[in-house]
Amino acid sequence: MSTGIVWFRQDLRLTDNPALQKACDECTTVVCVFIDDPLEQTLSQLGEASRVWLHHSLKAFDKSLRSKGSSLVCLTGDSRHALERLATELSATHIYWNRCYDPVTIERDKGIKTALKEITKVETFNAMLVFEPWENLKGDGTPYRVFTPFWKAAAKVLDSNVELLQLAAAPATIPPLNAGQLKKLSDVKTIDELGFVPDKPWADQMMSHWEVGEMSAISTLSHFLEEPVHDYAQGRNIPAQSGTSKLSAHLHFGEISPRYVLATLFEGKSATSLTDDQETFAKEIVWREFAYCLIFHFPHTIDQPLDKRFAKFEWAKETKEHERRWQLGQTGVPIVDAGMRELYATGWMHNRVRMVVASYLIKNLLVPWQVGERWFRNTLVDADLASNAMGWQWSAGSGADAAPFFRVFNPVLQGEKFDKSGAYVRRWVPELSNVDKKFVHQPWALPEAQRKLLDYPEPLVDLKTSRVRALDTFQKIKGTKKV
Ligand SMILES: Cc1cc2nc3c(=O)[nH]c(=O)nc-3n(C[C@H](O)[C@H](O)[C@H](O)COP(=O)(O)OP(=O)(O)OC[C@H]3O[C@@H](n4cnc5c(N)ncnc54)[C@H](O)[C@@H]3O)c2cc1C
Repeated sequence: MSTGIVWFRQDLRLTDNPALQKACDECTTVVCVFIDDPLEQTLSQLGEASRVWLHHSLKAFDKSLRSKGSSLVCLTGDSRHALERLATELSATHIYWNRCYDPVTIERDKGIKTALKEITKVETFNAMLVFEPWENLKGDGTPYRVFTPFWKAAAKVLDSNVELLQLAAAPATIPPLNAGQLKKLSDVKTIDELGFVPDKPWADQMMSHWEVGEMSAISTLSHFLEEPVHDYAQGRNIPAQSGTSKLSAHLHFGEISPRYVLATLFEGKSATSLTDDQETFAKEIVWREFAYCLIFHFPHTIDQPLDKRFAKFEWAKETKEHERRWQLGQTGVPIVDAGMRELYATGWMHNRVRMVVASYLIKNLLVPWQVGERWFRNTLVDADLASNAMGWQWSAGSGADAAPFFRVFNPVLQGEKFDKSGAYVRRWVPELSNVDKKFVHQPWALPEAQRKLLDYPEPLVDLKTSRVRALDTFQKIKGTKKV
């Protein structure tokens, strides 16, 4: 008799789940466990929108497990103690989990592994990334700080090493605990009892935009690969279109693996034989890998600039009111407000618009990027420590391969270029629904009489003067030493 515990975190799926596969191969009974660890909530910094997604994701995963004869056992409290207790109650012979790669969780998990090894056999796997963060490095063994060579090296390995995209099959059945073992389990909670969904209409409204779980992730991918991917290089920049995959939250919670995404995209072909559109999509999946590589090798960059000059950057003082107006989508700049309202309503924002709202907060309002990072972390369903920190540092000009600080996005030109008809802005800012497309990205330029009729705020700051202020502030650190 062997009893294996599989500890699930960001790997809520059956297919391509090496920890689950190994447990089913090696053990006569398998218990699938999720732990709501208050410490983990702080460490992996789960925001409100993510908690709501997680609730639905756990429900979907429990349903999948039940279809295989098992179910999800939910525990609460300190992960190490919960696992020790469970292992003792069940006389477990093995504990398996798939690794998480944010720096704080890595440290925490190392301690848990050492402690559990005293009582049982522990094995961990990579299920979250295609490459371990220590694998795709420069020739001299140091991490890349620029994406293109990181991608080139990754594409080369993907071409020459087909096993990398081999997927672990979903288990046909998961051997459940017997009645005696079930009786021994203590303090088990239901998913509802974990209390991840606040009693607010906002949560239901937000989730009405999503289908959560592994099956939905797989069908979202196949729908995307049927059509939108063939125009991805262009379409991914148009926020009014469904030109991107919308897989980010599914990937974050591990409802689908990046290996599965790439294997399905490649269909056994080499990276070099992909079309330009397919390659652009593959690169985005590898940007996610790059983000994890960065926080693994530069863990402080979760909340501190990689480029040390920015530690001395003179941000504006007393920015609370500006922050609040940015969060609410009341800045008076249509594309910024549309993005912030899309975020609050759906838990997601289009990538092009993420770059615009970030540039506006950091450069036009001179608010530290960490403030925006925190708001995104709380409101995005795909909030991801690595990708979020990289996105914000990219926008601030302080990260690896970042947009230079002096590149200040002009939100009017961005709107006119990527939302030509104004459809995106009109969808999220209905106050502007009747404004002609000539003015929809700059309603302040309307003739006075028409402007007065609009129930829409005047811009918080003048775009030109705030841009000059940002560039002047940057001048003060420009010549100083980078690292
Ligand atoms: C300021 C800022 C903050 C961001 N915060 C996050 C975040 O918390 N979580 C997150 O997953 N992405 C974040 N991104 C990256 C990107 O905006 C989202 O991954 C993308 O919009 C998700 O939509 P999609 O799944 O339709 O993407 P697609 O265009 O379909 O891309 C496919 C997948 O590739 C990955 N990907 C795409 N672009 C990036 C990128 N720039 N960096 C890392 N991975 C990428 C994602 O996993 C995405 O699901 C941020 C970008 C910016 C500018």
